[in-house]
Amino acid sequence: MSEILEQSWNKPFKIESSIDSLRNTTDPIIIYALTDEAEAIANACKEKGIQITAFCDNEIRKTKKLYWGLEVIFTPNLPKKFPKAKFIIAHQSLDDCAEQLTDFGYSDCYSPLNVLKDYKVENYSYLTSESYMQNKINNMIKINELYFDKSKTYVRSVDVVITTKCSMNCESCANLMQYYVNAKNTDEAVLEAVKNLSENVDHVSEYRVIGGEPLMNKKWAEIANGIIEQDPNRTVYVYTNATICPKEDQLKSFNGKNIHFFITDYDELSKNISKTVDALERNSVPYKIRPAGNWVDCSRIRKHNRSTERLKQVFKECCAKELFTLISGKFFTCPFIANAAELKAIPDNKADYVDLLSDEPNMRQKLTRLINKETFFPACDFCDGRPHAPESAKEYAGRGLIKAAKQIPTNTRLPFEQNK
Ligand code: SF4
Ligand code: SF4
Repeated sequence: MSEILEQSWNKPFKIESSIDSLRNTTDPIIIYALTDEAEAIANACKEKGIQITAFCDNEIRKTKKLYWGLEVIFTPNLPKKFPKAKFIIAHQSLDDCAEQLTDFGYSDCYSPLNVLKDYKVENYSYLTSESYMQNKINNMIKINELYFDKSKTYVRSVDVVITTKCSMNCESCANLMQYYVNAKNTDEAVLEAVKNLSENVDHVSEYRVIGGEPLMNKKWAEIANGIIEQDPNRTVYVYTNATICPKEDQLKSFNGKNIHFFITDYDELSKNISKTVDALERNSVPYKIRPAGNWVDCSRIRKHNRSTERLKQVFKECCAKELFTLISGKFFTCPFIANAAELKAIPDNKADYVDLLSDEPNMRQKLTRLINKETFFPACDFCDGRPHAPESAKEYAGRGLIKAAKQIPTNTRLPFEQNK
């Protein structure tokens, strides 16, 4: 018998780990979110006699074609298509997913933990490389184990911002790079901050070295190596827009280390993508390419004066509230607050972050409180919101889905409101 765990303390939903009831059900079974791991979870379900009916995803572009031979439903359309269904969550933000499904009236959410535990990655081929998938599955198992352990605090990924310089100039950059007049490297004491973070939480799944464009910081490879050197069991991803080709000796320095590249493909703007891929392959650095697709407009900084109820709603609908971000020694739960604070566009409010370089006591408690925050942050009032599905969100003030990476002239900076 599989171990039965469920996560429901103080939450309006519950996620179960036992998969026994999935074997004999007549309800449709849907895998929530087309993450990289989704195809492995589908394989593992098949091995265990669990019949998957469909997948679902909040990004409409991902729903245009079959995946693993099955239909992909746009998540907001689920209730029309499947009034009753059970869900296996293939996303690391389990609570976010369960919360959205609960709002649609569903109550049967399952963790993929017991589906994946004895899964052999090498028995299948994937859309990504086998080593990439192995890494993702290891992480998924770890995250799900920690999810069911109330005593643990974990971070599924942390964006380590090492520069606010970017080689592109996107009008609607969700990381607010279009506002930085004096863009600069933000790596001072970054390794000390990473160390302090890792010592004060139980687990960090992925360290993502980002910018702006991280390769604009000449020390990007040194920093990626420095993060791994603190603990070789870590996983580091370098996020790039493929405008700057990494140097051969930099890539060689990653040999045998768990350092990956994640390339966002902006078509012709990613002018060095082929050279970058060739260099990564020559040096056996694992990588993944993802098309930029469409964005949810969420980059304006302005005060909304929302009531507490409205703030709760904007936070509830937000898909970015676990995009943990470290910038200039401070740890935030989303890139909007991190960069609005770095820009000094919002009032400095200690409820919005933890200073990883401070010598104040109780850093562990402070981090636990911030990471597990369930309502909203003071800074959310300056944000338009970043919902999964902008068309159906109740408390969203942005322009909805917009074309990714519309450029403004080089060196142009957008004005913003400075809120005191
Ligand atoms: S490429 Fe565009 S979206 Fe990415 S960090 Fe640079 S400005 Fe922002
Ligand atoms: S400021 Fe609040 S609503 Fe906006 S992205 Fe961050 S967590 Fe979400």
